Amino acid sequence: MSSVPVAVVTGSNKGIGLAIVRALCKQFPGDVYLTSRDPGRGQAAVAQLQQEGLQPLFHQLDIDDLQSIRALRDFLKEKYGGLNVLVNNAGIAFKVHDTTPFAVQAEVTLKTNFFGTRNVCTELLPLMKPYGRVVNVSSMVSSSALGGCSQELQQKFRSDTITEEELVQLMTKFVEDTKKSVHEKEGWPNTAYGVSKIGVTVLSRIQARLLNEQRKGEHILLNACCPGWVRTDMAGPKATKSPDEGAETPVYLALLPSDADAPHGQFVSNKTVRPW
Ligand code: NAP
Repeated sequence: MSSVPVAVVTGSNKGIGLAIVRALCKQFPGDVYLTSRDPGRGQAAVAQLQQEGLQPLFHQLDIDDLQSIRALRDFLKEKYGGLNVLVNNAGIAFKVHDTTPFAVQAEVTLKTNFFGTRNVCTELLPLMKPYGRVVNVSSMVSSSALGGCSQELQQKFRSDTITEEELVQLMTKFVEDTKKSVHEKEGWPNTAYGVSKIGVTVLSRIQARLLNEQRKGEHILLNACCPGWVRTDMAGPKATKSPDEGAETPVYLALLPSDADAPHGQFVSNKTVRPW
């Protein structure tokens, strides 16, 4: 078994994920795994970074596929005996003018951004080694979408005692409410992406709390963040940050020094803790 530290970035064949891998290859003292649901796109991205003189490793990972997540889990367990850095970056967003019915957008978006990310956490968080760092890439849109929720929902999403099961029930209810066209009446904002990212931010707050309760003394730090508005296939060419600039906050959180005890369980943008 290798004692080399190991970092994994989900959805890293392009965009912000690829830029996070690039930065980690330069700054993380260990093996860095570029992962992609499509091995061809993943290997092409590895080749691109190799041309830049970097040495990322590759593993297939589709966060919608539990078997794929478990294959990565077993690989990490066997080869490294755990994991030091996990960046949950993979995500999707329908374009603003996409005409796919809203209920379908809700189901598809929540499936990857919330449920897929949660499944990765369920399988990989138990592998995190002491002083591990976990970064869940959310979005400022989670904050604005929270503001668009009913007072009752806002209270639930800001609660310091909400459980993962309760959060899953709420995310499931959103999808069901869109199918019945009652989501607005039920207090939801009109954004599937926004609700999925509320889920990611609240999940991060819950997971950090559980680490405090169950793995106190292991110094694992877990946060959600917004990379900013970044020029990628998702956000388009008008966005203000380059992918490398978008990677800065996630990489800062992934490389928090071993003597740091904060931030933890926070929502961070531009390397600054934001109120939730
Ligand atoms: P992007 O260029 O569209 O890249 C998204 C990445 O996620 C791609 O590698 C994609 O793989 C991967 N992915 C999607 N579904 C996946 C799945 N089921 N399993 C594994 N990988 C999957 O988007 P981006 O702008 O870099 O976004 C990265 C993250 O930042 C997302 O979580 C996004 O919500 C967040 N974010 C972005 C912005 C922005 O302005 N760009 C702002 C706030 C937050 P494929 O190539 O196979 O599709």
